[in-house]
Amino acid sequence: MPLLYYWRPDNHQHDLDFGVGFHLNQGTPRLHDIEVGDNLWAFTRRRDRTFALAMQLVVRAKTHNRAGFRYGPYRLWGDLQHSRYFLLDGQPPLDPILRALSLQVRARSIGQAFQGHAAVRRITAADDELLHAHARGLLSEPRARLIPEERFEALAVAGDHDAVERLLFAEGPGLAAERRSYLYETTVSRARQHTQALRERYGDRCQLCAWCGLDRYQRPLCEAHHLQWLSRGGEDTLDNLVLLCPNHHRAVHAADAVLDFQGLAFVFDPQRREVLREPGHLAG
Ligand SMILES: [Zn+2]
Ligand SMILES: [Zn+2]
Repeated sequence: MPLLYYWRPDNHQHDLDFGVGFHLNQGTPRLHDIEVGDNLWAFTRRRDRTFALAMQLVVRAKTHNRAGFRYGPYRLWGDLQHSRYFLLDGQPPLDPILRALSLQVRARSIGQAFQGHAAVRRITAADDELLHAHARGLLSEPRARLIPEERFEALAVAGDHDAVERLLFAEGPGLAAERRSYLYETTVSRARQHTQALRERYGDRCQLCAWCGLDRYQRPLCEAHHLQWLSRGGEDTLDNLVLLCPNHHRAVHAADAVLDFQGLAFVFDPQRREVLREPGHLAG
């Protein structure tokens, strides 16, 4: 069941400025009607009032957020290889395609038709095809590029300001200036402190498997991992962090595994979920 989503221009802009999330939160359970592998198409309104296609999220996981999360309980995560953000400028207007879809929304009332929970609409396989055909010729949004998050986390914990600076600025990742400054100025100084706080709280035990570097090698070896990547708009706060052994940390990044707060499990793929043995600060 593919979905169509109206992305308010201010929220779309916010996502580009703070690090493209490749995920979507909503308050409506309709968001989870989609199957893993299906498309969620997001469109938005441009400054000239025409509509344009903003994103194709090829769904790789459906999860629940923590209780009381401000953007709603439901979340979709996009596959990083196949999902795309589209450049809005220079794109032919989406308006004729929207009128041709099975939703039967009149052109003048598109904005109102997608208000509130109706921002997420089910579409048919034929609609999905139409959007595919339209998307084929579109250019990608240059800011929708990710930095190598795992390397960034490691350099930040090591306190290597020079290397972090090279990663964020010299290599030209698709991050807005404000976000780069935030990552450079606050993350590096707090990363070690956060890691130490988690190691102390959990006695250097992996929250997934309880492996402990201290017991075995007499040195702390578990690592702090950002549940929502910093380069994808995640916050540099303890409630966005989990303590993992090096093996689990590698596996989580390699699989882009995400935490489902319903059941407190990492989703490696639809068949492989691993429940946190020690949910600790993430529970409740
Ligand atoms: Zn582990
Ligand atoms: Zn990590």
